[in-house]
Amino acid sequence: MVGGGQLGRMFAVAAAKLGYRVGVFCGSSDEPAAAVASFTVCGPLEDHSAIEDFARRCDVITLEFENIPAETIAVCSRYAPTYPDASVLATAQDRLIEKTTLRDAGLPVTPFAAVRDAVEAIATAATLGWPMIVKTQRSGYDGKGQHRLNTADDAAEVDWQAGGEWVAEAMITFDREVSVIVARTADGRSSTFPVFENEHRNHVLDLTTLPASIPASVETEARRIAIAATECLDVVGLLCVEMFVRGDEVMINEVAPRPHNSGHITMEACATSQFEQHVRAICGLPLGDTSMIVPTAAMMNLLGDLWVEDSPPNWPALLSIDGVSLHLYGKHAARPGRKMGHITGVGNQKEAIAERLKKARAQLSQKT
Ligand code: ATP
Ligand code: MG
Ligand code: MG
Repeated sequence: MVGGGQLGRMFAVAAAKLGYRVGVFCGSSDEPAAAVASFTVCGPLEDHSAIEDFARRCDVITLEFENIPAETIAVCSRYAPTYPDASVLATAQDRLIEKTTLRDAGLPVTPFAAVRDAVEAIATAATLGWPMIVKTQRSGYDGKGQHRLNTADDAAEVDWQAGGEWVAEAMITFDREVSVIVARTADGRSSTFPVFENEHRNHVLDLTTLPASIPASVETEARRIAIAATECLDVVGLLCVEMFVRGDEVMINEVAPRPHNSGHITMEACATSQFEQHVRAICGLPLGDTSMIVPTAAMMNLLGDLWVEDSPPNWPALLSIDGVSLHLYGKHAARPGRKMGHITGVGNQKEAIAERLKKARAQLSQKT
């Protein structure tokens, strides 16, 4: 596993369950995945001799984030099959290439245009309309590097130089946001998880619920689009496709070729978790049953904002609530907005579960 964050950590646990030894390549030995790895090799991603030491010890290589330099992946693939491959990463690292590739394959994506400055953004409004949202083409996550432009005046506020190249998108008034995770093997077998419904807060995922409150026809369409995107990009491993639903219409927002935050819900809600499915996919094993094993479920993120210096989160208060499953990533430093862990609940009514999770999260701020 290249990358030492929480996705790598939960992947390593799932792989260990199937009897694998997992090596982790990460920046330092106190990263979340290092604590559960069979071995770690530490170094910057640009350190080719470190990555060689790592790759030499692996039978198959995968990753937990898409912004890995192409040369690093090239080094990996000299020693072991590396999934997803360099071409998938090249596409997923650049919003413009990603959106263009998917659109040219006939898939519905949010209307977009490449822009470089305020003049071009304003000109684009003739086709995209106001409001629009501009995003840096490369290396944005959790809404970083994005600006909503309501009028031409807002375009003047953006530091266009700082972002490099940009993509402008029509602001979609969606009914729901959903995601579909697809697993695909090197010999072309694929399988989707049920559609997850996602709510964001400050551009960061806050709540995922399952099943999504959408008609069966929209569910079928979302799964079809997700599989088509996976095949179009020729992904081996996992691809998460984030989508907007407006009426019967489904359109792609963006894709991520790795386990996804919304998929954490599968650990309690589905017969196979996204992490086990990832292991199965890259190892060429039969893909697991993705069907739900509970009627409904909800997953809520725990961000670093809950950690305040003079009183750490009140874990006993949270753990005293039945029906709340806690996952912590073992991060040493909490920062506002940083993903520190998540909680999941299952049961008959997803709104009630989400309410229970919200109360549980609020308990963390109770003084001991
Ligand atoms: P991450 O990779 O962490 O999911 P990101 O920085 O790549 O985030 P996006 O997924 O593009 O950002 O956008 C973050 C959120 O902002 C979306 O989940 C959605 O709620 C909102 N958003 C983004 N683009 C649009 C759009 N064109 N119309 C309406 N809402 C949007
Ligand atoms: Mg993104
Ligand atoms: Mg996103």
